[in-house]
Amino acid sequence: MPHGNVIRGARVGSAPERYEPAPRRAVTYWCRNGHRVEILIAEEAVAPPQWDCPRCGHPAGRDAQNPPGRSRTEPYKSHLAYVKERRTDEEGAALLAEALADLRRRRGRPAAER
Ligand SMILES: [Zn+2]
Repeated sequence: MPHGNVIRGARVGSAPERYEPAPRRAVTYWCRNGHRVEILIAEEAVAPPQWDCPRCGHPAGRDAQNPPGRSRTEPYKSHLAYVKERRTDEEGAALLAEALADLRRRRGRPAAER
């Protein structure tokens, strides 16, 4: 986000054009009971990976298809889960594209390297 736009128009007393005085964004979580939880956080804040569902108390996650704690109850996480948690979707997509390109390159070569 460009820094110049954060302050402009956000002073008390002036009419904001498009921005609220404190810009916020909605972050949505889903718990394993299918509850949809929407919270507002500061626009520049990093959304927490989980949020406690206010309706049932179970942890809710960002992935609607795979809410936390659905299939296993113990807090164990695989190495892959930790890796995924540390990466953003963009980074993951970039890594995937890179891996696929690499795979195609290798497939294109004669199998002499093995
Ligand atoms: Zn819930």
